[in-house]
Amino acid sequence: MMNGNSDSRIPRNIVKRDIGQEDLTPPPGESFQKIWDVDSIKEEVLDCAAREEPPRFCLSKIEIHPSGSCNLKCPFCYGQNLAPLPRDRKDLPNGTMTKIVTNVHDEMPEENPLFVFAGMYSEPLLHPEVVDALKKIGEYGFRFGIYTNGLLMSPNIQNAIIDNANKTSTEKLSFVAFDITASLVSNKFYRELVPIIEHLVNMKNNSECRLQVNTPILAINRKSDHITLYPVVRTLKNIGVDTIRL
Ligand code: SF4
Repeated sequence: MMNGNSDSRIPRNIVKRDIGQEDLTPPPGESFQKIWDVDSIKEEVLDCAAREEPPRFCLSKIEIHPSGSCNLKCPFCYGQNLAPLPRDRKDLPNGTMTKIVTNVHDEMPEENPLFVFAGMYSEPLLHPEVVDALKKIGEYGFRFGIYTNGLLMSPNIQNAIIDNANKTSTEKLSFVAFDITASLVSNKFYRELVPIIEHLVNMKNNSECRLQVNTPILAINRKSDHITLYPVVRTLKNIGVDTIRL
C-alpha cells in the first residue's frame, strides 16, 4: 500500500510504502525496494535536476572515520590488504570533526543526525580530537555512537562520553559498541578491556547517564567457540552491559 509522506523532510513526490515486519527480513537492498517506491525517487531526482536544486532528504546519520590506523592487527580484519594500504591511510586533519558538527548545527538547523565514530580497518579513539568532537556534539545536543575496540578508552574519553551523552536532545540514547573479538584475539580482553568496560558501566549507572553500552561479538557456529565464549558472555553479563550480541 502506498502511504505518502507524513515526514515533511522527505520530498513530497517520493513514496514510502506501508510495510509489515516480514518485509524487513530480506537483505537491506531488497528491503529498501519494498519500503520505497524506487521510480518515485528517480522522478524526484530528475525533477530536482530540472529545477537546479539538490534533493532534500532527512539527514539521519553522519559516520566519521577519524583515524587512519589501528592499535591492533587482527588476523580477521578484512581491511588490511585493501587500498589505500595501511601506510597510505591518514587521520582526519585537526579541527575537521568539530567543524563538521558545527556546520551541521549552523547550516542545517532542521536536522538532528546521529554522529557515529567508527573506522574502516581503523580505530576511531586513536584520533587526538575525539574528546573535542564529543564536547561539540554535547554543546549542540546531538546524539552519538562509537564503534571501538575499546582499549584506548582513557578516563578522559570516558568522562567526555558520559558528560555529553546526557546532553542529547533526542529520545534515543547515545551508545558505545565495544568490539570484544579484537581484544579476545589479542589476549587483551580480561586484563585490559574488561576493567575499561566495567568502569564505563559503573560511571553510567552512578550518573544515570543516557548511554547504552553494547558488546557485539563475532562468533562462528563451532562447539569450540561456544566453550570459549560462554565465560566471556557471563563476564559481560555480570558487569551489566546493556546488550551482548553474538
Ligand atoms: S580492531 Fe578492528 S580495525 Fe583494528 S585491526 Fe582489529 S578488526 Fe581491524
